[in-house]
Amino acid sequence: MSSLKLISFTNSNGIVINTKSRKISLDPDRVPHSGLTFISHAHLDHIHASFDGKEVIASSETVYLARERGFNISNYKEEAEGIQTFDAGHILGSRAVLIDDSVFYTGDFALRPRAFLGRGKTSKCDG
Ligand SMILES: [Zn+2]
Repeated sequence: MSSLKLISFTNSNGIVINTKSRKISLDPDRVPHSGLTFISHAHLDHIHASFDGKEVIASSETVYLARERGFNISNYKEEAEGIQTFDAGHILGSRAVLIDDSVFYTGDFALRPRAFLGRGKTSKCDG
């Protein structure tokens, strides 16, 4: 059974997922006041600000590329309890995320391998 109690979709700051234990903002337009943030990749339509001190899920490659573009992410992990990430195959470091086996999200995705990038990975989920 899913541990999700509510999925909120907002048009003011991206998609927000509320589970029993936390709020997760997916590629938000602004730094959220609270909760965890997932940044799928370092294209500028997916990262808009520095996340100093905020808890972020992102790949180390995304953190590096974001820093090169002037956005600092100081407190990040590649995965967390109940949160798995998968190669999205879009750009270096791009990730999809599976939250509590219920929600699968990615900002951009490629199913064909290109140059050094492999095919994006998917996962089954309950939702
Ligand atoms: Zn992109």
